[in-house]
Formats: sequence, C-alpha cells, structure tokens
Amino acid sequence: MTMDVDRGQYWTVDELDQAELCTADQARVKELLALCHAHLESVNEKNIVNAFKLSKLSHEGATRASGEPFYLHPFEVAKIVAEDLAIDDVSVTAALLHDTVEDTSVTVENVRTIFGDSVAHLIDGVTKIEGVFANRHAKQAEAFMKMLLSMADDIRVVLIKFADRLHNIRTLQHLSREKQLKIASETLDLYAPLAHRFGLFKIKNEYEDLCFKLLDPNSYNFIARKLKEKKEAREQFIGEFMTPVETELGKLNFDFEIKGRPKHIYSIYRKMQQQQKPFEEIYDLFAIRIILEDPHTKEDCWRVYSIITDWYTPIPKRFRDFISVPKANGYQSLHTTVITKTGQRVEVQIRTRRMDEIAERGLAAHWRYKEGGAAGSATLDKFVNWVRDVLDTPRPDAATDFVKDFQLNLYQDEIYVFTPGGDLITLPRGATCIDFAFEIHSEIGERAMSAKVNGKMVPLRQKLKIGDQVEIVTSSKVNLNPDWIDDVVTHKAIARIRQFVRHQRRVIADNGREIWEKRLDKGKVEISDQDLMKLSSQMGFKSLQDMFYQIGNESYSVDKIFKKVRDYKSRGRLEEEETSLLQNLDEQEFQQTYLTKARETVDKRSLVIDGDLSNIRYHFANCCNPIPGDEVMGFISRNGDVKIHRSACKNAIHLMNTDSERVIEVHWAAASASQFLGAIKVIGEDRVGLVNDITDVLSKSFKTNMKSINVNSDSGMFEGILTLYVNGRDHLQEIIDKLARVPGVKTTMRYE
Ligand code: MN
Repeated sequence: MTMDVDRGQYWTVDELDQAELCTADQARVKELLALCHAHLESVNEKNIVNAFKLSKLSHEGATRASGEPFYLHPFEVAKIVAEDLAIDDVSVTAALLHDTVEDTSVTVENVRTIFGDSVAHLIDGVTKIEGVFANRHAKQAEAFMKMLLSMADDIRVVLIKFADRLHNIRTLQHLSREKQLKIASETLDLYAPLAHRFGLFKIKNEYEDLCFKLLDPNSYNFIARKLKEKKEAREQFIGEFMTPVETELGKLNFDFEIKGRPKHIYSIYRKMQQQQKPFEEIYDLFAIRIILEDPHTKEDCWRVYSIITDWYTPIPKRFRDFISVPKANGYQSLHTTVITKTGQRVEVQIRTRRMDEIAERGLAAHWRYKEGGAAGSATLDKFVNWVRDVLDTPRPDAATDFVKDFQLNLYQDEIYVFTPGGDLITLPRGATCIDFAFEIHSEIGERAMSAKVNGKMVPLRQKLKIGDQVEIVTSSKVNLNPDWIDDVVTHKAIARIRQFVRHQRRVIADNGREIWEKRLDKGKVEISDQDLMKLSSQMGFKSLQDMFYQIGNESYSVDKIFKKVRDYKSRGRLEEEETSLLQNLDEQEFQQTYLTKARETVDKRSLVIDGDLSNIRYHFANCCNPIPGDEVMGFISRNGDVKIHRSACKNAIHLMNTDSERVIEVHWAAASASQFLGAIKVIGEDRVGLVNDITDVLSKSFKTNMKSINVNSDSGMFEGILTLYVNGRDHLQEIIDKLARVPGVKTTMRYE
C-alpha cells in the first residue's frame, strides 16, 4: 500500500461538502444510502456522504492487494454494516472511516469535529482493538472475546470489526497462499465462534464457507456441485411437502415465508466428517423454515406446529422449543422433525420474523427493535441472559437509548494477560507480576526474580494491564520475599506467601528449640514441656513455639530464659522480676511486713484508685489494661505494691483461686484526671482513606491521643488495633460507637 505521508491536512466540513464525486462514486453512495434506508431506523445522509468523501480523500493513492483503490474496502464494510448487521447510521459512518485514523494522517479529533462524538468514539474503539486482533498471543475464542469486550466499551466496535473481517476474507484471493491460510484459519478459529456467540449466524456461515473454500477447495467444490445437482429435486420436494400446509395457513389468513434452507456447505462437510456419512445421507435430511411475518406472535408458531403435525408424523424426541427456552445467544425457534408418507425425514423450523432477524443478525437486530433494558452485568452469560430477557419482554415504549445501555462494562473486574507461550491468564484487576507468577505455578512464584512485560524489564510488583505478555525470570533457589504480601491481590499468591512465612517461622522456631535444648544440656537442667509451657506463658510468650521462635531469631536471650527456668527448678515457682529482691523473705516475714501493712493502709481491704487514701503504690496489669469504669481487683505483690487487674482477666481469675488472701477490693475514684491506655479492634472493608477517616474520628471528635495503630489488610478486609489514651470506660465506649459509624467499618470492639 502506498500512502501520501505529507497529507497532514485537517479537513473541514466545508471542504467535504464541496468535494465532487465522480459518477461511479455517486452510484456507490446512492447504493449505500439505499441500504441504509432499507434497514435502519434513521439515516444522517450528510454524514454518510461526507464520510465516504473523507475516506476516499484520506486513502487517496493507497491500493489493496487486488490493485483496487483502498477506499472501496471501507465502502464495502459499510455496506455489510448497513445490510447484514443493520445497527444504526453512526456505525455505517464509522465503518466508512474505520481504517482512516489507523492508516492515514487524519486524526480522531478531526473526525470528531466533522462527525461528532459518537462516530469518533467508535473509530477510536476500532483502532484500539486493532491491537487485540493483531495480538498473536490469543488462542481460545472465548478468552479472546472476553478480552475484546473488556477493551471495547461499545459493542458496535466489535460488530464493525466483524464486518471488516468479512470483507477481507471475501477478497482474500489476491493475497499469497501463505497469508490466505493464516487468515482463513484465524477466522475459523476466532471470528466464527465469536460470531456464533453473538448470534450472527449469517456472517458466521459466510466466514465458514469462505474459509473452507480456501482451506479445502476440493471438498468445497464437491459439495457445492452436489448441491447444485440436487437443487431442482429439492425444490420440487419442498413444494409437495408444503402444499397442504400452505392451504391450511391460507385459510387462517397467515402471512408467512417458506425457506427450503440448504445447510451451508461447511456445516454439511462437518456433519459428513462427524457422522462419517456420505453427502446424500446428510443432505437428505431436509430442513424447511417457516417464518411468520409481523405481527404474528409465538402463539401463532404453535398453531403452525399443530397444522404440520396434523399432516405429518412428528418424531417426539426431535422436538425442541427454543421459544419458551431460548438459546444463550438469544436464538428462538420451534424445531420439529416429521416423517412423510414416503418415509422422508424433514426438519421444520417455525419462528416469527423477529425471531428470524435475531437468528440471522444476532444481537444487532435488537437495536432495530429499540428495546430498553438494564445496564450490562458482570459476566458474559449474565449479559446474554439479559439480552434474552429483553427479547422475551419487549418494552417498545422505553425511551432509553439502547446503544447507550449496551455500553459494555463487562469484565471490569478482570484483566487478561498472556504467557510467553500464548496461554491466556485471567487475573483480577490490580494484579501484579507476582500474582501472575503464582498463578502460573507456585514454584515460579517462589523463585521469581524479575519480570518482563511486553519484552521490557519491570519490577515484580508492577501492575498488569489487559493484553500484557508477561515473562517471569526465576532463580534456581527460593527467592520469596514476605513483603510481597503487600503487592499481591490473588488468593493464590496471598495463601502461598503466608504459608511460606509460616514455614519460615517454623524453621526458625525449630532452630530456636535446638539452641534451647543445648543450653539445658549445658546447664544440666531438666524441665518437662508442660512446665516449660506454663513458664513461657508466665514470661509473656504467646506459646512455646513463640518462645522458641524468639530464641531462634535472637530477639530474646536464651540465657535469660535459662536463668528463670533454673530459678523455678530450685524454688518450685516462678516470680515476677520486680520481686526478685524479696525472694529470700519467708512467708511469715512477708505477712508481717507487707501484707498486713497494705491491708491497714487500704481502708477495709478496699483501695480507691486515684483517691486521697491511696498512699500505696499500685500498677495496672498490662495483661488487661484496666481503665476507670472497669470491674477491677487488686493483688498485693511480694514487695507490697498492688497490681490492678480487670476482674474478668484470666490472670486475675487464676490469682483469686490460688492466692485469694492477697486479693483486695479496688474501687475507682469518682473523677479521674488521668489518662489510661485502651485498645480497640476495628474490622471493616479495606478502602482508600479508611485509616484517615478513623484517625479523624479520634482527633476531631474526642481529642484523643493515639499511642499506636496496627493495621492488617488482607483480600479486601481491614483489621486494625488502635491503642489510645482515654479517661475511662465511657470514653472508650463512646469512641467505639463513633468508629462503628465510619463507612466500611463492620465491627468495633474493645481489645485486650
Ligand atoms: Mn479494514
């Protein structure tokens, strides 16, 4: 193709209006406009004429492989859009210009100023999905369609592309054999199944026959010749078969058309292959279609069925009611197979004109019926179901612009990317190269070192876009980084990284246990696991495993623990560190010097915290962080201080059981100026700005000081522990109530 690169011209409406068309082109425009008027609701003639002119002017000098001027291609595509797809005049205008922006110096902006937003939008869409179609990675039609729909926000974009492909394969004979085969197989593989899913049977059949003719001309010609030979006999048979039926329908004043539908060549061929039968046996399954003209209804279809089965014997198991239960692509029809007196089997399809339009032209036919409906849904099947619903319940009054409703926001939540081998991988939106790696195989995820997206090196945490081709470079050993947890969205990757972290902890803990056991051996001390477990929890470890882990990663000194265990073994109990000075006092001495004194000081065994009477030292237990308003109890420790626990605290309950004589009553003073530490757990849906909203509540509404905030977010959920200074239980409760009202927050509770 040659192109005038210097023609960076900006076209105006005036220039186009004034451009003259030669006689041949005038005839072409007239032909196109006639098709538009025959098939479309309304026709903006000026736009179509000017689009034709702009197409011709912009493609000036360019030719197709056949030697024809290039602009005849968009012209033919526009004819297909007008006649076979019959969508609207905007689509026809866009079809005329579908290669203009892609192949010439004319810009989308220029198109917009001349033809308006909707035409420009469609052309932009066609240009954009060009890349998807050129994408050699796509393999399966279904996945390909998903990708296509996720990119094209308007279904008309895809339909124009169907028409473009149809004209291209109609004119394939001018290309090299190699190119022919490539395009033909791609069309059979991708376009034909897609057209089928869209319900575009006429276009699908033409795709198949044209490609079949190219791929296997001998078989094609054989079947075509046989069909021709049998034509006369077939027409005669159909005539005889239909005569009595036509008479009956005439009596009822039915308006109908009969088609002795010859199956298309490719489908006959496929049946011959599949059933391993000669042409005659396949072909002799006659198929007749009866189409009831508007305004016949589906009830009338049933009457036709009744008349046919009055004359011929139906085969019950061959009956299909696609009117009550349409196919997923919207197809509606009654199918029955009957046997004539001579034993000939005939398949009969009965449908209304509207059903036939939809069967031939698919979804596009909807636009012609101007039915409204709800916006697109999340999956293709729902989408198709919706189309079916629209079909079943016509709403002719709906003023909604049907095309607008069709704006596809399907698959908004998914992206489609490719492996280097061309396999399609579906990931949630926001997925990164790390997600991709884990999606391929957990081992690839664990060993991922770097990534290439579309041939370029990128960081592993890079987010992927639709159509990206992703290659993961792996290392020979495990390279998993626990921090990746923040860069993944897929369940698979999250689970695998967590599992890895747990495994890593286990390895460290095992190592810690080894260190611990060696230390025990060296110190010649023995302790049962049960005792050790008890001790470790008294020392503040969450579990024995936790203690070993902290030894293993050296965050806690093994000697320190050893010393405590040795003391425990020699004394038979573990004491708090602060009491170690007193460990030599015997119980009697303790009773006299401290316990008695404490009891005397505390008025009648009752301590008023923050009150005047408390000239006794007290601490708040950090296992339960009591705050004013909580039910509390005091526990007199060996040095005479009082430790204050919440009454419901696990440790407090234990102490009340074992050392009840050291427990004293404790009350809060009426008013307290002090600040106490409280903690709140917040669970909710993770969203941008949630932490901000939470801290806002704290600072603005309560003038509360926060000590720390610890946030965990995982697969869309948010879990935070807020530690803050409050002046009492009521204050804390107030904050909890307020936080519960933050949008997205599901649970708020006091955290111990
Ligand atoms: Mn084209």
